[in-house]
Formats: sequence, C-alpha cells, structure tokens
Amino acid sequence: MRLPPLPTIRDLIRMYKLSAVSKLSQNFIMDMTLNHKIVQNAGTLTGCCVCEVGPGPGGITRAILEKDVDHLHVIEKDRRFFPGLQMLADVTGKLTAHHGDVLRFEMNNLFPESFITPWSESPPKIHIIGNLPFSIATPLIFKYMESISTHSDAWRYGRVPLTLTFQKEVAERMVAEPNAEDRCRVSVVVQNLCHVTVKKIIPGSAFVPAPDVDVGLVHFVPKKKPIIDLPYRLVTKVTRTVFHHRQKQLKNNLKALFPDDQQNLVDAMIGDADIDPGRRPISITNEEFKRLCVAYSRICDRLPYILNYDYRNPSSKKNYLSIRAVEEELNSVELQREQSKTF
Ligand code: SAM
Repeated sequence: MRLPPLPTIRDLIRMYKLSAVSKLSQNFIMDMTLNHKIVQNAGTLTGCCVCEVGPGPGGITRAILEKDVDHLHVIEKDRRFFPGLQMLADVTGKLTAHHGDVLRFEMNNLFPESFITPWSESPPKIHIIGNLPFSIATPLIFKYMESISTHSDAWRYGRVPLTLTFQKEVAERMVAEPNAEDRCRVSVVVQNLCHVTVKKIIPGSAFVPAPDVDVGLVHFVPKKKPIIDLPYRLVTKVTRTVFHHRQKQLKNNLKALFPDDQQNLVDAMIGDADIDPGRRPISITNEEFKRLCVAYSRICDRLPYILNYDYRNPSSKKNYLSIRAVEEELNSVELQREQSKTF
C-alpha cells in the first residue's frame, strides 16, 4: 500500500516544532529505508492488527501502514505528536492513536475477538512493534513477560510476537547463553518464555538526536510451553536471587531465599536440584534454572511462608517471625498433649 504524498518526518518535526525531549527518551529515526527494514523484521504484516509503542513523529508508523495492515493502534505519551498521527489516521482510515503511558496501557480489548488464536497454534495475526524509549524498555519487557506467562493483556489473543528496540547491551543480554559474561536475570526470564533473536544492530548515529549507545532490534515469539512452567513470580524470585552477586557461588546467593534459622533449606534445595553448589551464576543453564525453581517450589509447597519471605523487606521478616512463633506455640501445645497422654 502506498501512502499519498505527505510531509516528510523531518518537515513534520519542523512544522510542529517537535524538538526531542530527553526525559521521554526521544530519539527519532528520520530515514524511511531504516524504518522499512525495522518493520520487515517483524515478518508478514498484511491483514494484521498491529500495536506500535511510542510512534513519535511516525516514521515506523508510516512503514507499518504501507504493509497494508488491517488496523494499527499506536500508544504515545507526548501529545505534541498527535496532529501528525491524526494526519496519518485521516489518509489511511486505519490508525487509532491512544494517548497514555504504555507501562499502564492494557491491550485486553484492543483487537477484534476474531483474531484470537489458541496458544498451542501459530501466533495470531497481531504484532507489537516499537522503537522503545530507553528509559522504560526494561520495565516494559518484564511487564510483557509477566503477561505472556499468564496469557493475559495482548497475549489473551494467543502467542503475539514482538519486535522492539533496546540499548544494544540490553539486547545482547536477552540472548546471552550460559557462560557469556553478560548473562543475567533478563536472559533467563526472556529465554524461558520466548524464542528470542537479535535481528539487527542499529548504530546510534541513525537516530536524531544520536544517543551515546547503539541499538539492538529484538524479535520475540512466545513459546508454546515455557522451559520453567511455574508462576512468574517464583521464577523471577529465584533468578533474581541467583544473580544477586554475580561473582559469588550459587550456594551463597541462595541463602537470601531463606530465613536465618532455616539456612539448612539451601542445601536441601541445591541437593534436590542436583547442581554443584560452587557454580557461578552465569554458568547455570536454563534447564538447571528449571531444576532450581522446581526444588524451591517443592519447599514452598511444604512451607508456604517461604515464598513470601523477602530478606530485604522488614515486614516480611516480621511476618515470618510471627508465623514461626505461632508454629512453636502449636508445637508446644502438641508436645504437652502427647506428654499428658504418656502419663
Ligand atoms: N517511533 C519514533 C521513531 O522511531 O522515530 C519515536 C521513538 S522514540 C525512541 C520513543 C517514543 O516513545 C517517543 O515518541 C516518546 O514520546 C514515546 N514515549 C516515551 N515514554 C513513553 C511512555 N511511557 N508511553 C508511551 N510512549 C512513550
């Protein structure tokens, strides 16, 4: 689909005086060839419903609309871009611009119900695309991973793929294999739930204004079944704890999962997972994380207060101590009852 003649992105920025606001991580792509390449990396979009995060002056937006999509929704926080986006909506009749913060924006009812595709099948004809603001890229991807794990928000419609930009180093962490120096929590959480690939590295000089860093374009397709099929909260808690001190041994990091008087559970967990306690966090494979999470989950099934225990949070420590006090009280009542039976 060819769009009718429109002012260029550069002209639009000049006409509406859209100087970049650093607080909103605004780095624009003026080069339409690059915008088309970004969109090509999302795969086939013809007849799809697309949601673009942070359209700004609309370069990627135009490239998406030229793919003859069924409909395009864009979410933008900065109202200054709305006249330009409205112009695209008017000429195509296929664009809806939503004003808001993407971190709070819900996509539960954004697309037609007829687009729902069962999770076990191929992805639905829905895509999420965006040249993300650096400032929110990491919280946003964790929010999306949680929704993927619960099949909620946009993932109510099925295994919706995403094509998003990140600072190059963050993109590389997402695909980092065991033993890579940049392997971290995000590598495990993302690889657990998605097939993830870095499609392209874009030099910082391609953006206006140019950031100090390069950018990685990352493509995610949710997996039919995650490697670790356990609640998101549990998986993120275990991975966060394992990577807490990257140079420490596994055993030392895991101590933070358990209260001081229950440190014996560290050995129990590692024994059940059958992993060398001296391993460095970056060497642990996704399958070994699965074994650690399963072992931790078994402990939490037996002692449910462990899941809520957070060594950084004084109120959770207090809660734990009161649960222990009640337990001890019950134990002593039980003991007295047993003793009275004996006499
Ligand atoms: N897509 C445009 C491009 O590639 O030229 C602009 C990309 S710029 C890196 C990020 C865009 O996201 C900006 O337009 C900015 O106003 C918008 N933005 C920043 N924070 C946002 C948020 N929390 N919710 C929605 N949009 C946001």
